[in-house]
Amino acid sequence: MDSGQSKKTPRGRAAGAHATTQLRTEALRAMPSIDECLRAFAGDAECDRLGHAYVRLMLRRAQAEVRSGLIAQAAHSPAPARARLVDEIVRRARAAIAADEPALRAVVNATGVVLHTNLGRAPLAEPAIEAMAAAARAPVNLEYDLDAGGRGERDSLVEEALCALTGAEAATVVNNNAAAVLLALNSLAAGREVVVSRGELIEIGGSFRLPDLMQHSGAQLREVGTTNRTHPADYERAIGPETALLLKVHPSNYRVVGFTSAVGIAELVEIGRRHAIDVVEDLGSGALIDFARMKLPREPLVAERIAAGAALVTFSGDKLMGGPQAGVAVGTRRLVEKMRANALRRALRCDKLTLAALEATLRIYLRAGDLAAAIPTLRLLSRGVGELELIAERARDILSQRLGDAFNLEVVATTAEIGSGAQPTEEIPSRAIRVTHGALSPEAIAAMFRAARPPVIGRIRDDAFLLDVRAVDDASAFAVLFPPARSRS
Ligand SMILES: *Cc1c(COP(=O)(O)O)cnc(C)c1O
Repeated sequence: MDSGQSKKTPRGRAAGAHATTQLRTEALRAMPSIDECLRAFAGDAECDRLGHAYVRLMLRRAQAEVRSGLIAQAAHSPAPARARLVDEIVRRARAAIAADEPALRAVVNATGVVLHTNLGRAPLAEPAIEAMAAAARAPVNLEYDLDAGGRGERDSLVEEALCALTGAEAATVVNNNAAAVLLALNSLAAGREVVVSRGELIEIGGSFRLPDLMQHSGAQLREVGTTNRTHPADYERAIGPETALLLKVHPSNYRVVGFTSAVGIAELVEIGRRHAIDVVEDLGSGALIDFARMKLPREPLVAERIAAGAALVTFSGDKLMGGPQAGVAVGTRRLVEKMRANALRRALRCDKLTLAALEATLRIYLRAGDLAAAIPTLRLLSRGVGELELIAERARDILSQRLGDAFNLEVVATTAEIGSGAQPTEEIPSRAIRVTHGALSPEAIAAMFRAARPPVIGRIRDDAFLLDVRAVDDASAFAVLFPPARSRS
């Protein structure tokens, strides 16, 4: 997550990589086994109560921590004696058992990326959290029609709201947007061709690759145009008896600049109409409101694409909408019904918790006047730099009390990002606390913040560790506990 990289020559890097491999091998060799460490718990009543499987698991985690610490330090100091390593692993395991921390825990997102996929994207609005908890606690009418007294359709819980907000005729919801695209392609184009511009064959965060997804869907990819330029005639030429769909994809995490040309949605819909072929758009972030109104980079609105004639638009629930992880598909009733009738949908459907949070989020969009106040993602994004400056100054004071004089803390101007592919080249102004220390590298400072409780995730830029406050609610988030200084070096 830290984006800092030292600039080494290729030869320097190769030699460095070799030395690192050797250090890793030595650290692994010095490492005591889990069985050796487990002996320290012999006759321990607490250990017997908890069970050996659990104690072993905690020892294995402690061993991994100690091992990575050794690798990080190996360049400066020789590996400690085996007995000391056993002590250290056992000490850490005992501390972890006492703390009983879950693996999934709250962290402070000081990366400057508001919708950070690795940190769980959108924080939910309070009503969505309450709706989720209520649905978790008790039986709900998930697929039960209360009027008719029989089996219902889970989509019906959110369909009306989604249609009201996007102008679409029908809507269906699955686990994430990748699933929505997969289901759409499989339901509407399996065994046939889908025409896509080469400029839109995207890969997002290494895990969403449109060509791979297309292959799993059973649809045949028909690429048209070049990376930087695609013209209407390219689509026209590709259309034939095998064409099932024209697909447009929002090029989320990059932008083609310079000598470029793409076919807009209206023009694509016109081409589709001439050949009686539906246009489907994967919009990615899928804004429900106009971001320009909040002085933010403009994102295409789902409603605009429906109004322009897209037969189906898919987008994520946990990106700009600010809701739970979900994949939403809105469009014509004919296409949505085909997706619902597909057996694959059973494998991709979302659960009652997601639907509860999604419905609550959509109700906020329908009812709230001040969305920036009601939806945390919109609130984080729309705050002015004056407010961020105050938060950063207060955070600096809190941190300086906790860290002492050896650290130098300075509020600096930075740029943050929306994240998750929304307007990647547009940066939004922000403020950060720049943390430096005479004897510690930015990487060591980053590790120290990650070891805090709760962990604080910053980023390294221009060889300095930065804590960006754009995605942080309040300065009090920085009132964290740091590990004892001796494990800091
Ligand atoms: C983010 C994104 C996806 C993947 O969405 P998930 O909800 O993460 O599955 C697909 N397409 C586009 C254009 C995106 O921006």
